Amino acid sequence: MKTTTRVAVIGGGVVGCSVLYHLTKLGWSDVVLIERSELTSGSTWHAAGGFHTLNGDTNMAALQGYTIKLYKELEAITGMSCGLHHVGGVTLAETQERFDMLKAERAKHRFMGLETEIVSPEEIKKIAPVTNVDGIIGGLYDPLDGHLDPSGTTHAYAKAARMGGATIETHCKVIETNQRPDGTWDVVTNKGTIHAEHVVNAGGLWAREVGAMAGVYFPLHPMEHQYIVTDEVPMIAEIIDGGGEHPHVMDPAGESYLRQEGRGLCIGFYEQPCKPWAVDGTPWDFGHELLPDDFDKIEDSIAFAYKRFPALEAAGVKSVIHGPFTFAPDGNPLVGPVPGMRNYWSACAVMAGFSQGGGVGLMLAQWMVEGECERDTFAMDCARFGDWITPGYTRPKVIENYQKRFSIAYPNEELPAARPFRTTPMYDVFDGMGAVWGAQYGMEVPNYFATGDEPRYETPSFRRSNAFEATAREVKAVRENVGINEVHNFGKYLIKGAGARSWLDRIMAGRVPQPGRLSLTPMLSPKGRLIGDFTISCLGKSGAEEEFQLTASYGSQAYHMRWFLQNLDDGVHLENISDTRNGFQIAGPKAREVLQACTRRDISDMRFMDVRRLTVGMADCIVQRVSYTGDLGYEIYCDLPSQRSLWDSLWSAGQAQGMKPFGMRAMMSLRLDKFFGSWLREFSPDYTAAETGLDRFISFKKPADFIGRAAAEAERDAGPARQLCAFEVAADDADVVAYEPIWLDGEVVGFCTSGGYSHYAQKSIALGFVPTGKAVEGLEVEIEILGQMYKARLVTQPLFDTDGARMRG
Ligand SMILES: Cc1cc2nc3c(=O)[nH]c(=O)nc-3n(C[C@H](O)[C@H](O)[C@H](O)COP(=O)(O)OP(=O)(O)OC[C@H]3O[C@@H](n4cnc5c(N)ncnc54)[C@H](O)[C@@H]3O)c2cc1C
Repeated sequence: MKTTTRVAVIGGGVVGCSVLYHLTKLGWSDVVLIERSELTSGSTWHAAGGFHTLNGDTNMAALQGYTIKLYKELEAITGMSCGLHHVGGVTLAETQERFDMLKAERAKHRFMGLETEIVSPEEIKKIAPVTNVDGIIGGLYDPLDGHLDPSGTTHAYAKAARMGGATIETHCKVIETNQRPDGTWDVVTNKGTIHAEHVVNAGGLWAREVGAMAGVYFPLHPMEHQYIVTDEVPMIAEIIDGGGEHPHVMDPAGESYLRQEGRGLCIGFYEQPCKPWAVDGTPWDFGHELLPDDFDKIEDSIAFAYKRFPALEAAGVKSVIHGPFTFAPDGNPLVGPVPGMRNYWSACAVMAGFSQGGGVGLMLAQWMVEGECERDTFAMDCARFGDWITPGYTRPKVIENYQKRFSIAYPNEELPAARPFRTTPMYDVFDGMGAVWGAQYGMEVPNYFATGDEPRYETPSFRRSNAFEATAREVKAVRENVGINEVHNFGKYLIKGAGARSWLDRIMAGRVPQPGRLSLTPMLSPKGRLIGDFTISCLGKSGAEEEFQLTASYGSQAYHMRWFLQNLDDGVHLENISDTRNGFQIAGPKAREVLQACTRRDISDMRFMDVRRLTVGMADCIVQRVSYTGDLGYEIYCDLPSQRSLWDSLWSAGQAQGMKPFGMRAMMSLRLDKFFGSWLREFSPDYTAAETGLDRFISFKKPADFIGRAAAEAERDAGPARQLCAFEVAADDADVVAYEPIWLDGEVVGFCTSGGYSHYAQKSIALGFVPTGKAVEGLEVEIEILGQMYKARLVTQPLFDTDGARMRG
């Protein structure tokens, strides 16, 4: 056995083998895979082998597309068969809402280059004759759907990796992973120790146990899952004898997927009475056995399936496959460098290994070999969960995710399991005021306040929801008087020490402000992609040392901390204070009066982008004159124990000025008045600063060689190929959410990043990319929302406070 290696991949399921192959493909051949038994000894061997591109997240859908196209490449390289059947697949819609969702998916696929199409019930009957189309109003057909041989495919990955120089050790169980002081790993197995520069946890069903060997909790949980294979079904046999194949049918109403298997059918269920498996840990002696059949929990699903696919009822059961596989709380994989660890990588919680395994392997290999991925991977980045996550949270979330596998995913939907979990001292106060809650990164955040006749529940919808009126009231309060909300959903970081300024100058592309001032800055990857948009405040100097506060997206804390720690300089003190420093934002024309009423210091000379330490009421605060609402506004930060007293001061002073609380729905509407971008919508690693206009905050003049400088300079010289623009959309009751295609002269020329309704201007607004040459005021385009074309006009003047007089005044 090898005793040293560059990478030790633990786990020989489809995911570990894909990671191994992709590492060799990108040029790392000194890599070894360690498998405790034979390859495919976890979930992989009993998978149904189905694959599809459909995924609510556009980047995940693109990676699924990559995975599916990869199989032919694998067959060509290795000469082995993956047992591919590209039979196509149709997803059924029995309600208008589901049909809307499928049409929205179809629209996204247009700019992703995927050839899906909307089909009628009559066409479904023709394509997939086993389906009873009574009650079906349409479907989405994807020619790329199909199935394969799980074992053959895993072995093809393994062979391709070996051909690239990789080694595979089977019957070799990892029992410890111990880190050396230099960051490399001793991977201890029953056959000896391998010294590895990097470790990849691809332990699948045992990923939790493998993680625990390094002291890491991986938020995933196995669930039981069952599918049934039938004896011969005459209708299928006839199709096969005629030289054809029956496509897959996904029936979300019945929570089932169905495909042909041999001359019969195979049907699997995501049943509501589902069961988590191995709650306290996966037994090491579990391997190639199945779980006992459990027809009770799928009884209702089977009854439904008999109606949808009548041919099933007459077919005998040939075999039942009942096995476990793992899910993360949101159902997406956990991939990437594990936050807080050196040289330790995750390739776990891949619940659809045959749809996603190739993309996961490619992204992880790019990350390891090239330092960053070619696209935004946040949807599957293990850093999308922070160290607040616990097994007690993961389990109910995983159950919820399993149960909702086939549910409609609404853009405004808030999932209820494991909530409320994390709250601030304001929770009870806002709850008493009618807050309707959402959750971000485990934290409860008011979406809006149901102070009128509306219920305390926002109806999930693709169209304008029942939060519309409440949001309008809150926007009006901000624009006409003053609104207040909490700043708990900002990620906040304290930076100090002798090296603080020079470190910030290197890690941020923008200008680092002088004491008492703040600046906005993009943070770039070495390839010039956006990996953060920050506000930096210089809080002042004590001796030679300066102190800074950084603020950014709350949900990106682990992501940002991982990057900061990977790039930290000596002499810099860095602290994540997101949950220990909190406070409020007040915004609107009366905001100054409210703040002045709460402090004895004269604030009339506090300019836009100033930052000061002020006592507000009884609380010592950091006050920043800036607001994401685009209005006159202040962010007021204090320590957590002072927050309730700060609230009392601001709220009582606010009463004379008509102060109202506002939530995230209003915030998102207000920012659209100014076309302000938002993190992970307009600003993400999929885009560059120049494409999004954030290059205006890059300081090309500063001497520092900031990360991403060369790439940003090259793009400045060449000019970006596409440009983020704002559009007024002639929408009726549904606004842009994200990824709707932008059409010009019958062609898709771009796509939307986000949108919504500007309650202030009473207009539907979209933000999105079009080719640079087309980005001119007044460009008339069409935007496809839920399958309908709407006229839209490119606008460059903000809808509110066009000259910035109110924001800066
Ligand atoms: C009934 C069923 C049907 C399914 N159908 C489909 C489908 O149609 N399409 C689809 O895409 N997906 C399907 N899946 C899911 C699919 O099986 C998984 O997504 C996939 O197998 C995950 O692969 P993996 O490599 O991450 O994990 P695993 O397959 O669990 O592999 C992990 C490997 O790591 C090894 N290992 C663990 N610990 C150690 C250690 N300490 N030392 C050495 N080796 C170790 C294990 O022995 C195992 O071989 C199905 C799952 C089930 C249960």
